Amino acid sequence: MSEGLETRVLFRHIDEPGLHEIGTYERLGGYTALRAAFKEREPGDLVSEFEASGLRGRGGAGFSMGKKASFLPQGDMAKYLCCNADESEPGTFKDRELMFKNPHGLVEGVAIGAMAAGATRAFIYIRGEYAEIADRLDAAVAEAYDAGYLGEDILGTGIDVHLVVHRGAGAYICGEETALLDSLEGKRGNPRLKPPFPAIQGLYDGPTLINNVETLMNLPNVVNNGADWFKGFGTEQSTGTKVVSVSGCVQRPGNYEVELGIPSRDIIYGLAGGPPEGREIKAWYPGGSSSPVLGPEELDLPYSFEAMADAGSMLGSGAIIVADETVSIPKMALRTARFYQHESCGKCSPCREGTNWTVKMLERVVRGEATPMDLDIVASVQENIIGHCLCVLGDAMAMPVGSMVRRWRAEFEEAIASARDAGPAPLDVEPAVMTPAGVGA
Ligand code: SF4
Repeated sequence: MSEGLETRVLFRHIDEPGLHEIGTYERLGGYTALRAAFKEREPGDLVSEFEASGLRGRGGAGFSMGKKASFLPQGDMAKYLCCNADESEPGTFKDRELMFKNPHGLVEGVAIGAMAAGATRAFIYIRGEYAEIADRLDAAVAEAYDAGYLGEDILGTGIDVHLVVHRGAGAYICGEETALLDSLEGKRGNPRLKPPFPAIQGLYDGPTLINNVETLMNLPNVVNNGADWFKGFGTEQSTGTKVVSVSGCVQRPGNYEVELGIPSRDIIYGLAGGPPEGREIKAWYPGGSSSPVLGPEELDLPYSFEAMADAGSMLGSGAIIVADETVSIPKMALRTARFYQHESCGKCSPCREGTNWTVKMLERVVRGEATPMDLDIVASVQENIIGHCLCVLGDAMAMPVGSMVRRWRAEFEEAIASARDAGPAPLDVEPAVMTPAGVGA
C-alpha cells in the first residue's frame, strides 16, 4: 500500500476501471465489511471499535468518530445518519474524487455507520455543483438496493437502512452540520444554536450522526482489518491515512493519500512538486482556506492534527494551499475575506458585520488608503469575531486573516505605501492561489 511517499488505503483501487460499478467493487473485496458488520457484529461493538481505532473526523473538526457515534442515545426512537458531502471549502477537492471514482465505498461506509448508530434512515447531502457525482451516487445506491445491501431486512438480518442522495443548492454554509440539517428538512440552510447537539436532537429532532465522506469511507477498512491495524498508520493522536488536496503554487496539484504524521514538506515538495522552478514558498494554508496561515519555518512539521494545532493552525479538511514569493499576502487576505463575506448567512452580527468590515478595510489596504493604525483595527476585528459567532464561519475568516496580518504585518505596511505611491489601482486579487489548477466547481 505504500508507494514512495504515498500510503494508499482509500486510494488503493481508486484508478481501477469500472470501480464505480458494483461488480468491479465486489470483485475487489467490496461489501465484505458490510456483510461482516451486519451478520456478525453488534452495533455497540462496532462503535467501540471505531473509537478504539482513533479515527477522527476528516471534514474539519477532527473529532473522534466513534465517540461521536457513542453520544447517540439508546432506544427505539427514529435515528438518522447524515453524510456531509457538501465539500465547499476552498482548496478542498478530496471527497469529489473519492465519491466519483468509488461511490460504492461511500455507500458501504454509510450503511455500516448507520447500522452502528442504530439509524434506519441515512442521507448523503452532496453539494449541488457535484451533479455528475450525485448521478453516480444515485446509480450506486440503486445497485446496492438491488443487491440487498440497502433497504429492508438487509442480508436477512432484520436490519433496515434506507439511503437517499440529496443535492444542495450551492451555499457554503450548508456544510455546517446544523445548517445542513435545516436544508435537508427543506428550510433555509441556517446554522442552529448548539446545544442541543445533533447527536441528541438533529434531523427531524431525532438523534443524528453526521460524518464526512472520507470519515465514513474508512469504516469498511476498520471493520475488515480491526482497530489495531488502523492505528498502525499515523501517530498516536492522528491515526490512519489522510487524503490531502494540494493546490496553489505547486507543480503537481492534486489529491495524495499519505500516512498522517509525515513531514509537510514531503507532501508539498515530494508529492506536489513544490513551487515553480526558482521560486520559494512564502506561505501555506495547512487545512483549507479557514486555517491560520503558516510560513516556510513550519514546512518540516509532521502533518498531523496535533502538530498543526501546536503550530497555531489546524489540519482542518486536509487541504494545503501554497503561495510562493510572487503572491501578495494582503491580496490573499482580501480574497479569503471576500469568500467568507459572500458566504456568511447573516444570522449573527459578529460574522455578518465583521466579514463586511474586514473586506472594506482590506480593500483600503490594497488601494493604499489605509494607515498602519488600520492594521491594528483589522487585527482587533478578527480577535472580536473569534469565539463570538453562532457557527464557525466567522472564525473561518478571522483565523486566516488575523494570522496573515500578524505574521506579515511588514508586507501589509509596504503594500499600503506602494499602493499610495502608485495611485489608484484595480482591486485585483491572486487567482492562482484560490482557484488552483485542478480545482473545478
Ligand atoms: Fe451565519 Fe456567519 Fe453567524 Fe454562522 S457565523 S450563523 S454563517 S452569520
